[in-house]
Amino acid sequence: MCVIVGYTGFKPAAPILLDGLRSAEYRGYDSVGLYLSKDGVHKQVGTVQSLADKIPLETHSTTGIAHTRWATHGEPCEKNTHPHCDHTGSVWLVHNGMIENSNELRDDLIRRGHTFSSKTDTEVL
Ligand code: GLU
Repeated sequence: MCVIVGYTGFKPAAPILLDGLRSAEYRGYDSVGLYLSKDGVHKQVGTVQSLADKIPLETHSTTGIAHTRWATHGEPCEKNTHPHCDHTGSVWLVHNGMIENSNELRDDLIRRGHTFSSKTDTEVL
């Protein structure tokens, strides 16, 4: 099982989110990502530290979500790393586990005109 961390408050969110991910690294994962309200999304196939190295230290975002992924739908790659967003780019989500009927749901959404940028069941959600 991988890890989800969320924070909203008055402190810089990135260090809190990264510490949360580090505290459960022993569970294992293949990729790691986070979304910061003012900075956008950062993703890395690799360790939490390799993601931390990409985050601007001067970030002032005080809201964010973070995730370590163990791939079930779609190979470990940056495109499939969480967080994922809706087609407007305004809703961001992370998710643990599997959506068993995601292929059927994906096919139905494609028939209705949706497009996807990853192979994950999470983006279908
Ligand atoms: N099923 C999702 C994926 O493959 C989440 C996997 C997980 O629990 O990390 O992206």
